[in-house]
Amino acid sequence: LDYYECEVRMRHKNGHWVWVLAHGRVYSRTADGKPEWMAGTHLDITARKHADEELLRSHAMMQTIIDNLPCGLSVFDADLKLVAHNRTFRSLLGLPDHLFDTPGTTFESIIRYNAEHGEYGNADVDTVVNQIVGRARTPSHHRFERQRPNGVALEVSGAPLPDGGFVSTYIDVTERKRAQTQLEALNLALQERTAQAEQASIAKSRFVANMSHEIRTPMNAILGMLRLLHNTSLTPRQLDYADKTEVAARSLLGLLNDILDFSKIEAGKLELDPRHFSLETLLRELSVILSANVRDKNIEVLYDIDPAIPNELFGDDLRLQQVLINLGGNAIKFTERGEVVLSIRKIGVVNDAVLLRFAVTDTGIGIAPEHQEHIFSGFSQAEASTTRRFGGTGLGLAICQRLVAAMGGDLVVRSEVGQGSTFSFEIALPVMASASQMPMIQTATEALRVLIVDDNPVARESLLVGVQALGWRAEAVASGEEALASVQARRAGSNAYQVVLVDYLMNDMNGWQTCVRLREVAGPSLSIVMLTAHGREVLNGRTETEQALLDGFLVKPVTPCMLRDVVEHARSPKATTMQLASIKTPPPKRLQGMRVLVADDNANNRQIARELLSNEGAIVSIVSDGKQAVEKVEAADAAFDVVLMDVQMPVMDGFTATQRIRQRVNLATLPIIAMTANALASDREACLAAGMNDHVGKPFDLDILVATLRRHTGRETAPDTDIAVHPSDEPGAPMTSTNVNVAGALKRLGGNQGAYARMLRSSLTDVRASAEQLARHLSAGDYESASQLMHTLRGVAATLGANVLAERAARAEQLLAAPLAPDQTAALLDEWRVLVKEQAAEIEQAARELEVAMPDHTAPVHDDATPHQVLDELTTLLREADMAALEAYERVRSHPAIARVDLRPLGAAIAVLDFESAIAHCERLARALDEE
Ligand code: ADP
Repeated sequence: LDYYECEVRMRHKNGHWVWVLAHGRVYSRTADGKPEWMAGTHLDITARKHADEELLRSHAMMQTIIDNLPCGLSVFDADLKLVAHNRTFRSLLGLPDHLFDTPGTTFESIIRYNAEHGEYGNADVDTVVNQIVGRARTPSHHRFERQRPNGVALEVSGAPLPDGGFVSTYIDVTERKRAQTQLEALNLALQERTAQAEQASIAKSRFVANMSHEIRTPMNAILGMLRLLHNTSLTPRQLDYADKTEVAARSLLGLLNDILDFSKIEAGKLELDPRHFSLETLLRELSVILSANVRDKNIEVLYDIDPAIPNELFGDDLRLQQVLINLGGNAIKFTERGEVVLSIRKIGVVNDAVLLRFAVTDTGIGIAPEHQEHIFSGFSQAEASTTRRFGGTGLGLAICQRLVAAMGGDLVVRSEVGQGSTFSFEIALPVMASASQMPMIQTATEALRVLIVDDNPVARESLLVGVQALGWRAEAVASGEEALASVQARRAGSNAYQVVLVDYLMNDMNGWQTCVRLREVAGPSLSIVMLTAHGREVLNGRTETEQALLDGFLVKPVTPCMLRDVVEHARSPKATTMQLASIKTPPPKRLQGMRVLVADDNANNRQIARELLSNEGAIVSIVSDGKQAVEKVEAADAAFDVVLMDVQMPVMDGFTATQRIRQRVNLATLPIIAMTANALASDREACLAAGMNDHVGKPFDLDILVATLRRHTGRETAPDTDIAVHPSDEPGAPMTSTNVNVAGALKRLGGNQGAYARMLRSSLTDVRASAEQLARHLSAGDYESASQLMHTLRGVAATLGANVLAERAARAEQLLAAPLAPDQTAALLDEWRVLVKEQAAEIEQAARELEVAMPDHTAPVHDDATPHQVLDELTTLLREADMAALEAYERVRSHPAIARVDLRPLGAAIAVLDFESAIAHCERLARALDEE
C-alpha cells in the first residue's frame, strides 16, 4: 500500500504561505515510479508549526540563560532524569563530558560517578548511591554546603518541581568560606588577646594594689618614727631635716594612697564601707584639711549647707570625705583669687534616704571643653603644663569619679576657662530612722542677736544662712565702718547685738582694727568672734592685749555648729576673756629691729633668709648680687646693722663687694658676714682676708646664724651656752684645743643637767681605762676587740658631746678594721694615751662646771628602795624609751647593794642610748641579784 504523510509549505491562493499536513494514498504510479493518482487530505498546520518554532526558540533561550548563570544548575524530572543543566554544573562538580554524551543521564549515574571518585569519602558506593537517590525521590526545598575533596566548597540549594523532580543550583563559596574562616580565626585570636590583656591588666592592678599596700606599711613606720624623733631633743638643723623628711614622706604616702586607690578600683577590689556618720563632724574635719591647703592664698573657702539636711546619715563617710578633700583641694590649687564654695543641698527624699547634691565651685582658671572629658581618666591632666605649674598625678579626679560612681552618683564638671569650675554629684544617703527628725543644724539654746561683718558677699550670705538656721537673729554688713555704725546705733536698746562675727581680712579696715573699735564702742558684753581664711598663724605676732580682744576664733570654712559652739563657749560664764589656750605665745624675737641686708643670687636662699630672719624680728632687705649690695649700703637712707653676703654671685662676687664697701670710710666697720656653702678653713681665711667679719655655713642653722648676727651687732658678747660649737675641722690640728659641746649634749639629754654631769663623771673611768684596754687588745693581736672598744667609746663620747674624742675614736675604729704594722700600732697607742689624758681632763672640767652651776646638786646617798625596785624602775623607763632612764641608771649605780656588781656594760649601753641592750643587761643583772 502506498500511503504518504508529509508537512509541506504551500503558497495560499491569497499569496501567503501556509504549512500543510498532507496525508493520503497513492493509487497509481507512472512507469518510472512517480505518483500518478493520489487521494488524501490537506490539513492547515501553520498554527501548530508556529507553536513548535516558538517552543524551540524558548528552549534555546532557556539554555542560553542557564548556560550563563553565575552558578551551576541541574534539573531532574520525576524519573530523576537530567533534563537540563549547564557547563558550570559539570565543572563545579567535576563531572566529565562523557557522562552526558548519551541522552538520558540520570541522577543516579551522576551520584554513582561521584561516589566512585571519592566525593563522599570511603563509604561503600552502592550504599551511598541508594541513600542519596532514595532521598531525591521525595525532593524538598534544600540548602546545604558541600566540601569537595579538591577543596572547593559548594553551596547547594534547590526546590522541588510541580510535576515531580527538582531543580538545584551550585555556588562556589570557596573564597567566601576561606575569608570567613580567616575572620573567625582572627576573631578568636582577638578574643584570646583581649582576655589575656584583661587578665594581665587585672593582675597588674592587683600587683600595684598589693605593692602599694606593702610599701605603705613601712611608710607608716617611717612616719611614726619621724613623730617619735620629733619627741626627742634635736638640734635645730636635725629638726629641720626631720621636718623635711616628714613632708617628703607624707607626699609620698599621699601618692601611694592615690595609686593604691586607683589600682584597687581598677582591679575591682575597692569596696565601700558604709556606717553611721555625722555630716557635721565630716565637715568639721574637712574644714581643717581645706583651710590648711589655703596657706597664704587670697581666697576664701566657704560652706553653703542646706539647713534641712539631717545630720545622722549612713554611708562611707571616709570615702565621701576623700572625694570632697580632692575636689576642694583641686579647687584651691587652681584658684588664685575669689572663693571656693562647697555647697550641699537636699534635693529630694527616696524611701528612707535623702538625695543630696554636693557641689564644689571655684573661681579659678577653669578647664577648656576639650579637656573636660579626659580629666576623669587616670593619669591625665587638663594640660601638660599643669604638672609643671601645679604638680599632681592626675589620679585624683579619676578616683573621685569612681568613688562617686560606687556611691551611686555621677561626678560631672561644668567649667569655663577663666571663670572657674563646678564639680558636682548627687548621691542618696539613708537617714537613720530615729534621727531623721533631727536636722544637721540644731537650733542654738539661746536666740542671739548677731552681726556678721565680711566684705565677701558669698561668705556673708552663707554665714547669714547658717546663723539664721541656728535660730539667731542676724544681719550682715560688708565693712568695719558699717559694723561700727550698726553696733553703735543699737548700743543702748534691748536690740543690742550680742555677738559680732568679724572677718579677718577686709579691704577698708582690717579685722583687728574693727575688733579694737568694736570693743571700744560696745564694751565687754559684746562677744567678738574672729573668722579667718588663713589659719591660726594670724594670731602669732599679735600682742596679748590684741588677742584678748577676741572671745573666739575660727578658721574658715565653718559649719553653723562650729559657730554655735564657739559663740556659746565665748558666752558661757566660765569662759575667760581669751579662750585661745592652744595658741602658744610666740618665742622671744632675738633679732628684733635689726636691719639686715641679704645678698644672695639664689631665690630659695633669699626666701629662707628673709623668712627666718623676719620671724626673729629683723627688718630684712634683699638683693641678688654684689653690685646691688654695694649700691644698697651706699644709699644714704639705708643704714644697715649687718650684711649677710653670699660669696659666689653673678655681676659682682662677695669678696669684691666687701672690698668696695670697706673702701668707704663710713662703712669700714659695717659688719659683713659671709655665707659660704663650704666651711673649709681656706674659705674662711679668704673671707676674712677680703674684709669680712665672720662666716656662716649654708644651709642655715638658724640658731648659729642668729648667734653670729647678735655677736657682730653687739647684742651678745659670747655665743650661747656652747663652750664651742665646732670642733677643729682641720686634720692634724693640735688635740689640746678640744672642748666638750655641753649645750648640744644637754639638748639631746632633754636638758637634764644632773644626769649629764653624772654621765660625764661615770664615763671618765671608761675613758681613762681605755688606754690600757687598747694596749692589752693590741698586744694580744685582738683587733676586733680593739675596734669594738673604740666603737663603744665613740658612742659614749658622741653622746657626751666630747666631739674630738668621738672623732678620734671613730678614726681609730676605722684604722683597726685591718691589722696594723707594729710601728703603726705603737703610734696609735701613744697617740691614744696622750689623747685620753687631755680628754679626761676636759670632761672632768665640764662635769665640775655643770655641778657647780646646778641649783641643788645633792648626790643621793641613801636609797630606801630595794635593788630590784631600782632595777625595775630603770627597765620600765628603758622600755618606754624615756630619757628619765638616765637618772634611774644613776640611782641604780649609786645603790649600795648594786655597787659591787660590774655595771660597765649597762652603763656603756645607756651612754650610747642603746636601750635595747641596756634592757638585756638589766635583766641579766636582776637574775644575778637573785642568784646571790
Ligand atoms: P592632679 O590634680 O593630681 O593633677 P586630678 O585628677 O585631681 O589630678 O585633676 C586632673 C586635672 O584636672 C588637673 O591636673 C587639672 O588640669 C584639672 N583640674 C581639676 N580640678 C580643677 C579645677 N578646680 N580647676 C581647674 N582645673 C582643674
